[in-house]
Amino acid sequence: MSDASILFVDHTAMMGGAQHSLLDIAEANRRRCAVALFEDGPFATALGARGVAVLPLGGGSALRQVKKGSVVPGVRPLVATLRLARTLARAAKPFDLLYANSPKSFVVAALAGRLARKPVVWHLRDILGQGHFSRANVRAVVALANWCAVRVVANSRATADAFVAAGGRGSLVTIVHNGIDAAPFDALAPGTRTAVRAELGIPDDVFLVGCFSRLHPWKGQTVLLDAVARMPGVHALVVGGALFSGEAPYEAELRSRAQLPGFAGRVHMLGARDDVPRLLAACDIVVHASVLAEPFGRVLVEAMLARRPVVATDAGGVPEVVSDGETGVLVPPGDARALGEAIDALRRDPARVAALARRGADHARARFSRETMLAGVHRVILEVAS
Ligand code: UDP
Repeated sequence: MSDASILFVDHTAMMGGAQHSLLDIAEANRRRCAVALFEDGPFATALGARGVAVLPLGGGSALRQVKKGSVVPGVRPLVATLRLARTLARAAKPFDLLYANSPKSFVVAALAGRLARKPVVWHLRDILGQGHFSRANVRAVVALANWCAVRVVANSRATADAFVAAGGRGSLVTIVHNGIDAAPFDALAPGTRTAVRAELGIPDDVFLVGCFSRLHPWKGQTVLLDAVARMPGVHALVVGGALFSGEAPYEAELRSRAQLPGFAGRVHMLGARDDVPRLLAACDIVVHASVLAEPFGRVLVEAMLARRPVVATDAGGVPEVVSDGETGVLVPPGDARALGEAIDALRRDPARVAALARRGADHARARFSRETMLAGVHRVILEVAS
């Protein structure tokens, strides 16, 4: 894809949206790149399966102690960060540039870039602030970006704006929206909806609302359950697992709520799955219920590619992806009543569902293709390398 050799860096080997996106970017660059990871896990396996070299650097357990909301990182994580930066600087020698895929990996890459005298790009996939990170963390990472990054690639206008609002230099930022490969959606067989429902024991005539996100309080699965509780006959398909430490109690809470007699078996919790396109096809609509500003929301584009209308919360990067009334429906975050009303209105209007689905699919293909994303990243890499 580009002549420059790139060492991508990520702190986690769990599969979140950031890792799904990097998978496509690294695969497109696989002849001239490697991905340095601070831990082993499914992301390392997925990269290997796509022919991408992985450099396992270790050190992840100490970094896991640094929380997004923490104010002072503590001595052990600080020492671990400096050690990792030295290790990464050595690993970076044969490469032209470092490309960090998360705030934690950017901190390490920024220091490593100084040590190894390599340019550092940060692919920013988080809204800095607005409840996601402590002010101290935002200040530190933005100062480091202003000092060390040659470019910040933001995955939405909202992500870019939050970076600048936090003091980040606007001249560093290039917006490259996420893009999704349409092929797995094009390959869905016509009978997928019925076949998947049969597997899950959900009758064909049930109105099924899907929610596809890792299980975390800010992803708002509880708001969806609140909405569904008031709509007898509507079923919810909750797909996703607790990816990171601290999320397990939330998963346990959701699972025990799903068993409540009021739901009468209408909430289907599937855990983390790797067959999202066919599960999307089993749904009538898809809900994206994040209660905090969502940086982008890959699932929105995936739902559109699967020709399923989305009802999504109106914050962060979501309105860049979904136009209210045109390609989906937007509701205020954290408002179960508004969410329920939007779901109910769609349930009663199949013609509108079909129209939203058609426009959404066209929009996703035109605006959020994998090729457009890869071209955007390619341009940045070329500029930096030259
Ligand atoms: N996903 C998945 N299996 C699951 C739940 C989610 O493969 O069980 C995928 C989903 O299809 C999407 C990504 O994880 O591609 C989540 O990305 P998104 O931007 O929606 O959220 P993030 O994880 O970045 O907060």
